[in-house]
Amino acid sequence: MSEPVPFLVPVDESRLRAERAKARELRRSAWWKQKRSRGRCYYCDADVGAQGLTMDHKVPIIRGGRTTKGNVVPACKPCNDAKKHSLPSEWAPAGGRTHAD
Ligand SMILES: [Zn+2]
Repeated sequence: MSEPVPFLVPVDESRLRAERAKARELRRSAWWKQKRSRGRCYYCDADVGAQGLTMDHKVPIIRGGRTTKGNVVPACKPCNDAKKHSLPSEWAPAGGRTHAD
């Protein structure tokens, strides 16, 4: 039993699965590998190396975001974990800086 979370947009399971499948595909793309190879977190600008970066949806899927090149960014694990289901406007890394784009 899960309690309703009022700020979450209801996203059905098939939509979540489809977006996650798209994310897996995008992670294999040259576009993503090139983005990740810079080794820097989009949010806090930490230099964690390509292996330390995860794919983050700026607007989370569960909030209605899509897996598109405009909505995914490389993020370090601490930022990804801390951000969770927040929108970029609701969250900024502690002591970090947000990017202008
Ligand atoms: Zn970070």
